[in-house]
Amino acid sequence: MYERLEKCPSCQHLQFDNFLICEDHSVTRESFALVKCRNCNLVFTNPRPDSVELGKYYQSDNYISHTDKAKTPIQLIYKLVRSYTLRKKSKLIQPYKSAGMVLDYGCGTGDFLRMLESKGWSTIGIEPDEGARRLAKRKVSGSIVDSLKKIESDTKFDVITAWHVVEHISDLKETLKLIRKKLKKGGHLVVAVPNLNSFDATHYREYWAAYDVPRHLYHFSQDSFLALANGLKLKVKKILPMKFDSYYVSMLSEKYRSGKNNFIKGFLMGMKSNSKASKSGEYSSLIYILKK
Ligand SMILES: [Zn+2]
Repeated sequence: MYERLEKCPSCQHLQFDNFLICEDHSVTRESFALVKCRNCNLVFTNPRPDSVELGKYYQSDNYISHTDKAKTPIQLIYKLVRSYTLRKKSKLIQPYKSAGMVLDYGCGTGDFLRMLESKGWSTIGIEPDEGARRLAKRKVSGSIVDSLKKIESDTKFDVITAWHVVEHISDLKETLKLIRKKLKKGGHLVVAVPNLNSFDATHYREYWAAYDVPRHLYHFSQDSFLALANGLKLKVKKILPMKFDSYYVSMLSEKYRSGKNNFIKGFLMGMKSNSKASKSGEYSSLIYILKK
C-alpha cells in the first residue's frame, strides 16, 4: 500500500509544492514524486510505500549496506575506501567522549562498531535487516538489536550515530524523539545525510543517485535539516563534509543517466562537486553534530 502524507513530516505544515519526479533506478524502476514543504523546505517522497510495503524495495542483492560483498565495480570502489572512511568517522566522534557508550542507529554489517570497540567504546547497534544483523553480530561484542524498543529503558548514550539512515525512517519525528531520549544530557547525535543543494545533486537532477527513491523518504538541505533539529530541541554544533560521497554518488548517477558505467566522468564530477563545495559548504553529503 502507498500512503500520502497530508502534513510535512518535520514541521506539520499542510502545503507543499511539486519538486521533482524520480525513478527507482536500483530495484523496481517505479517513479515517485518528491514534494517540498512551503514552510520548512523539507523535500520528501510523497506518496510513498507504507512501512510494510517498503521492505520489498530493499530486496535487492545489490543493496550495499546489507552485504559485505562487492558485486559491481562501483561497489568495489565503495568497499576499498570504506576502511579509510571508517577511520575518519571514528576520529570524528573521539572529541565528544574518548570512550563512552555509543549507539549506532542503522549499523549495517557492524564495521563502524567494531572499530569503536577497538578504541575502548561500549557499543550497541540497531539494524532492521536480518542478514546484516547476523553479519554484525559476528564482528561486534556489544548487542545488535532490530529496534530502539529492544534497548533497556535506563540505558543512555554519550554518542548516537546515524550514518545515512535518517532519510530511511518512516516515522521520522517519533523515532528522532526516542533517539533524543536515549542521549545523556550533553550527549551528541551525529547524523549524516545527502545534501540536495550540492553541485552533484543539481547537476544530475532526477538521476542523482542520492535521491534513491523510495528508500530515501526525506531529502535534506541545510535549512530543512536545521529546522528539523530545532523542532527536536537539539543544538547544531558543527556541520562537516563527507568528501567521498560525491565520487560514489556521481559514478552511480552517471550510470543511471547513461545506462552504463563511466568512472572517469563520475570521478571528475565528484572532484568538481567537492571543489565547488570548498567555497559554498554544500558538499554531496553533510555530517551534522547535534548536542542535547
Ligand atoms: Zn515542513
